[in-house]
Amino acid sequence: MSALNAAEQRLCDVIRARGASLRETLAQWVAIPTGHNFAPGLDQFRGLLVDRLQSLGCGIELFPGDPKPDWLYGQSAGGPIPPMAVARQSAGDGPRTLIACHLDTVFPPPPTGAFSAMSISADGRTATGPGVVDMKGGILVALTALEALEEAGVRANWTMALNSDEETGTYHSERALRAEAAKCQIGIATEPALPDGSLAVERFGSGQFILEAFGRGAHVGRDFDKGVSATAALARAVVAATDLADAEKGWIVNVGPMRGGEATNVVPDYAAAWGNVRFPTPEVCEALGRAIDGLATGAAGVPRVAVRRSFNRPAKPLTEGTRRLAELAQRAAEDLGQRLPFGRTGGVCDGNILQDAGLPTIDTLGVRGGGLHTTGEWIELASLVERAELFAITLARLAEGRLDVSGTTRG
Ligand SMILES: [Zn+2]
Repeated sequence: MSALNAAEQRLCDVIRARGASLRETLAQWVAIPTGHNFAPGLDQFRGLLVDRLQSLGCGIELFPGDPKPDWLYGQSAGGPIPPMAVARQSAGDGPRTLIACHLDTVFPPPPTGAFSAMSISADGRTATGPGVVDMKGGILVALTALEALEEAGVRANWTMALNSDEETGTYHSERALRAEAAKCQIGIATEPALPDGSLAVERFGSGQFILEAFGRGAHVGRDFDKGVSATAALARAVVAATDLADAEKGWIVNVGPMRGGEATNVVPDYAAAWGNVRFPTPEVCEALGRAIDGLATGAAGVPRVAVRRSFNRPAKPLTEGTRRLAELAQRAAEDLGQRLPFGRTGGVCDGNILQDAGLPTIDTLGVRGGGLHTTGEWIELASLVERAELFAITLARLAEGRLDVSGTTRG
C-alpha cells in the first residue's frame, strides 16, 4: 500500500509523465552561459523562468542589486549588477515557503569557457555540463514541482527568488533576499545534494577579509635605513592571522593571495593579503571577527596594518526548526521509497542567509551529482524526477501546515 495520499500520487504521476522532457529542458538551460555578471545569458535565463512562473499566475517583481565592497579579491571592474527576480504565488492559507535559486554558475561564457554544453553519457545515466547540478538541475526540480502542484490542483503559498550572484557571495541580492524571507515562514534552497545524496542540515559560515600594510618606500642602495618594509609588516600580520586557525575548535583561517612590492631594490611601502574564514557557530564568528580586527595596529605609526572584513555568510547550525523541516522532507522521501540521510558541510550557500533571517531552512533539495565548479560537473539524470517528486510532496505537506513552526521563527 502506498504511503502517499491520492493528491500526492497525482503529483508523482504528473512529474513522471514529464520525465523525458526534463532532460531536454536542462540541456537548453545549460547551454545558456550564466557566469559571473554575464548579463546577456543571465537576462535570457531569468526571462525564460519568469515566463514559466507567470503562466502559473505568479506576480513577478525585480529588485536592483546592491554594490559589493570594493576591496574584495577578484572583483571584476564594472559590469552591470544583475537584479533579483521574485515570483509569488498565493493559494490557500498555509505557511509561505521561500525557494531560493541562483542563476549564476562559476563558468565564464564562451569563447573563454570551452565547457559550454550538456553532454549525456553513453549509458544515459549521467550528463556533464556547466551548472548542470549547481544549480540548473535544482531549479528545474523546483519549477517542475511547482508546475505539478498547479496541474494537480494542490494549493500552496510560495515565493521563488532568482538571484544571480550566489557564487560570488550574494552581495548584490542579500538585502532583497532577507526582505523576502521576512514575509515567509520556511526556507528551501535548491543546491545539489551532498555527494552521497544527503541533505545538508548543518553548515559553517564564511567571511572575507583583507590585511593591508603601509610602510615607507626607499631605495635599497641609497636610503635603506630610511625605509620601512610593508611586506615585512604584512608577513607578521599574516602569520598572526593563520596562527588563529584551530580546526578542532572550528576556527578556519586561510590567507592568500598576497601582493607587495614593485622591485627588489625598493623597500615596499604597501602590501596586502586577502583571506577567508569559516566558523561553525555565531559565537565563533564573533570571536574570530574580534581576533582578526585585533591584527590592526591603529591609524598612526609606520609600519601600520589595517584590516577590513565582511563576514557575509552566517553559520547555519542545526536549529530545532530546521531539524523538524529536515525530518518532514526525510519522511516524504521514505514515503516515496527514497533515502534522505543527513549530513554537514563546510560549504556555504544562500541557505545560510535564510536561516539567519529566521526561517527553518533546508538547502540541498536539488539534484544528485558531483564535480561542482569543475569542468567535470555531472548530474545523475534519474535524480531529476526523483527530486522533483520529493520537492512537490514536501511542498504539499508544508502547505497543509504539517510543519510546526511555532517557536522556531522570528515570532
Ligand atoms: Zn550553488
